[in-house]
Amino acid sequence: MKITMLGTGTPILDPQRPATTAILIEFGLKTFLFDAGRGVTAQLLKSGVHPTRIDTLFLTHHHYDHICDLGEFLMTAWHNGRQQPINIFGPPGTANIVAALLNHVYARDISFTLFTAPDTIDIRHLVRVVDLAPGLVALQEQERVYAQYINHGNSLGLSEAEWPCLAYRLEADNAVIGIGGDTVACAGLTKMAKNADVLILSCYLASKEVESLGMEVLTEHVIASSGDVGKIATQAGAKKLILTHFRPKSADLMAALVKDVQRDFSGTIHIATDGMVIEV
Ligand SMILES: [Zn+2]
Repeated sequence: MKITMLGTGTPILDPQRPATTAILIEFGLKTFLFDAGRGVTAQLLKSGVHPTRIDTLFLTHHHYDHICDLGEFLMTAWHNGRQQPINIFGPPGTANIVAALLNHVYARDISFTLFTAPDTIDIRHLVRVVDLAPGLVALQEQERVYAQYINHGNSLGLSEAEWPCLAYRLEADNAVIGIGGDTVACAGLTKMAKNADVLILSCYLASKEVESLGMEVLTEHVIASSGDVGKIATQAGAKKLILTHFRPKSADLMAALVKDVQRDFSGTIHIATDGMVIEV
């Protein structure tokens, strides 16, 4: 399998990582995309993958840095010849978001295109959306995809119904990839990461950056820091770790982050950059 980390930044703008979360995974004839953050279409193009080729999009959660270019991605693929359906899987609420884009935000644009190019297939006939419940969520001869709820701020008092966030596990091509999403250590993440050949985790802060009550709360309840991600990977038995979703950092701070993780995890660690490719 080929993993391309299309976007590795966050809402905090970083010239080193201008794109936000989007992960492309290719195997056989399949092209899966996880999240559709800032710049996803441009990043796909740079990676040599035409947006019409994406057959399935999985969303981890609805923070805007993970979905902000969803509409742009769908519309651009459509305007550039998409004729095959695209499946979109995500937490409850995903169907409403897609409906808002296609039936409201871009409704006039879609009507305009269908008027001026009447042979075009209506994009609404090509987009198939499923709001997921945890468990086995996609099953084909070549692959299985599982999803589980994770804890991305839920322990601050948000129920899973109010703030549903998912991690995924892709089993295909004799390999297992865990896609953690934004999360702290939790049972759902452990299930998705178990014995993964590659585990992709968000790691916002180096331990050194956790120096205020606000940052402590963030690290404990919302998104893991470098003091946790190595422990999570080791406990899960993951072989390789791809870290992403970094707050902007100096080279020294990033080196400190890696050292933190190496204390807890002895496998290979990749510090993802926009466009980085990792083969499994
Ligand atoms: Zn998030």
